[in-house]
Amino acid sequence: MTTLKRVDVHVEGVVQGVGFRPFVHALARRLGLAGRVHNDVNGVHIEVEGALAGVEEFLTALERDAPPLSEIERVTVVSARPTGHHGFTIAAGVPSGLLRPLVRADGATCDDCLRELADPADRRHGYPFINCASCGPRFTIVRGVPYDRPLTTMAGFGMCRACAAEYHDPGSRRHHAQPTCCPACGPRLRLHDARGTELCGDPIAGAVTLLRAGRVVAVKGLGGFHLAVPAADERAAALLRGRKHREEQPFAVMTADLAQARRLCEIDEHAAELLTGRARPIVLLPRLPGAPVAASVAPATRSLGLMLPYTALHHLLLAELAEPMVLTGGNVSGEPIAYEDDDALTRLSGIADAFLIHDRPIHVRADDSVVRPMAGEVTVLRRARGYAPEPLAMRWPAPRPVLACGAELKSTFCLAEGRRAFVSQHIGNLENHETLRSFVESIDHFCGLFGIRPEIVAHDLHPGYLSTRHAKEIHGVELLGVQHHHAHIASCLADNGDPGPVLGVALDGLGHGPDGTLWGGEFLRADLTSFERLGHLAQVPMPGGSAAVRQPWRMTAAYLGDDHPGLDVARRNPWADALRLAPASPLTSSAARLFDAVAALLGVRDKITYAGQAVVELEQHADPAERGTYEAGITHGDLLVVEAADLVRAAAADLAAGAGTRAIAGRFHNGLADAVTRACDALRHATGLTAVALSGGMFQNALLLEATVARLRAAGFRVLKHVRVPPGDGGVSLGQAAVAAARDRA
Ligand SMILES: [Zn+2]
Ligand SMILES: [Zn+2]
Repeated sequence: MTTLKRVDVHVEGVVQGVGFRPFVHALARRLGLAGRVHNDVNGVHIEVEGALAGVEEFLTALERDAPPLSEIERVTVVSARPTGHHGFTIAAGVPSGLLRPLVRADGATCDDCLRELADPADRRHGYPFINCASCGPRFTIVRGVPYDRPLTTMAGFGMCRACAAEYHDPGSRRHHAQPTCCPACGPRLRLHDARGTELCGDPIAGAVTLLRAGRVVAVKGLGGFHLAVPAADERAAALLRGRKHREEQPFAVMTADLAQARRLCEIDEHAAELLTGRARPIVLLPRLPGAPVAASVAPATRSLGLMLPYTALHHLLLAELAEPMVLTGGNVSGEPIAYEDDDALTRLSGIADAFLIHDRPIHVRADDSVVRPMAGEVTVLRRARGYAPEPLAMRWPAPRPVLACGAELKSTFCLAEGRRAFVSQHIGNLENHETLRSFVESIDHFCGLFGIRPEIVAHDLHPGYLSTRHAKEIHGVELLGVQHHHAHIASCLADNGDPGPVLGVALDGLGHGPDGTLWGGEFLRADLTSFERLGHLAQVPMPGGSAAVRQPWRMTAAYLGDDHPGLDVARRNPWADALRLAPASPLTSSAARLFDAVAALLGVRDKITYAGQAVVELEQHADPAERGTYEAGITHGDLLVVEAADLVRAAAADLAAGAGTRAIAGRFHNGLADAVTRACDALRHATGLTAVALSGGMFQNALLLEATVARLRAAGFRVLKHVRVPPGDGGVSLGQAAVAAARDRA
């Protein structure tokens, strides 16, 4: 008789909802072991018993052969007394105790499911909600933990006999796949007209007929509603833009597959990988000349945001339409996207002519993520569906749990515990009640999902941000204010697992400076616990305060004053009024306001309708091949000052001399990158620091980032840039959390 060995194994990490229990079950069966496996609040718990060699092999294979979507963080093994029982079972989850499992991000429909979708003999042929343990909705349908069907928005769909058999069959791809369903038992697709009346016939064919007729169709996706029109139909795209209150942000385009995508954009191997990966973000790519995309889809840009279908519904819709389709957020400009059916039918009633919807509720709103290949790597610009809520691994632990409330624009929050940082999905600009509600609810939801009770709450220093106000209303916690640009640089350090100190270059919009001015073009000496301001862009007034943010031409006036040799921008706008306001206006060192000044100067943009518009459009306007540059003076007093006005004056002089605006925009980008590099060089001499961290929204600009990185590297600097979280304010919460954790360790 062989000696029996029994062990209790506890597996932590991303192990729920990824086919882990079926994998364990199959492994134990193969090795002839007895016992059971179940999800518990911390991960997966396994009791396994059998011959010693078998148990040892089990423990080895458990980590070696784990399912592709799982991420094991820790395995704890404890010996137990053998019971002599036979058989191996999968037990139900235990919904009690401390909640600490990891819920995965939603994942694109897998190849196995796509094969079934296309197979006329399969019972899920053409079924828009097909999914399995490797793919489908996760984060957006989870109401609570542990991750089991009753705590998802699939709870209302009783499984049919065939689905239940698969769900309970350890050999099936759908073994314990919580959202599994089929046409007999799962969600049903419907097409409604603008007034909410259901239309008869096949909903997808009906939607495509409307799309081909130039109508706007609202489509319920994974994390919210989209608005769709054919991407080549200028009349429909312009109509959609008009109905979205003349929103000017570029629309994203979904193509059926890579082949279709290659007809619109330049796609290298790296881009192809991003487009076809599990997260399926919108990928910002260079648009091909003459690409068949209507002018109103992405006006004033050379690039295009592309994504591939990530649900079966999208696959079916695109296959039927047989051409690329605009798929933009289902909202009115400035509001969060709609994700609840009633809300969508109300809020989108003036925009959509029809609604392609279904009866599986979305529990959590999640926008499409946006990524951009830049400087040879990819940077996440908006982190939401497909990425959130997966934790970012931190190089150093947070001794006590932290909630970091982020900034105001492109808001996110971050919960940090141990070595994990859970950065929320992009929530939006915290400027209205609806977004604030979403922010507060999401914090509660994350705390529940990950069982984190914050003891430290970090916030921005700006007293007026709704995120700061929210932080200050939380009782019984330690509050920590983190300066905005320190948070930016700390975010870049945390993103790279680097402790600093570094020279931090934060080129940004506006952030509250401790000296009472508005910062935004900063050179800092920073590590995770502290920072010192070493230099900045020269301050200029923002004539009329916030009016200057909405009207970039005012910044041109602030930079040039009366020195405007017959420039159009001065003729187009009430220049003298701005100059009269300037002396009493707030001062700023913001890099975004510098970009604004040049954008208006070149006639790219006098007024904006969304934050960062002038910056985005100036990059798109610039000739990327331009090698010329402008030179900004650098002065050394208590602080280093970059005389950014030199760049604006050089651009104005070139313009007056008849130079092309695309060349001028290119020279301005090069000039700023050059000034940053020379400033860093001077600061290297003063501090001995040889690493530079680049953060702030301006580094979403590929032209500026690439020009700066190239010059810094050529000057011998080690350069840190963002990868996993956005350089813009969406990354600030991670930086705040990193600072709070570092100070707590100190
Ligand atoms: Zn699948
Ligand atoms: Zn079924």
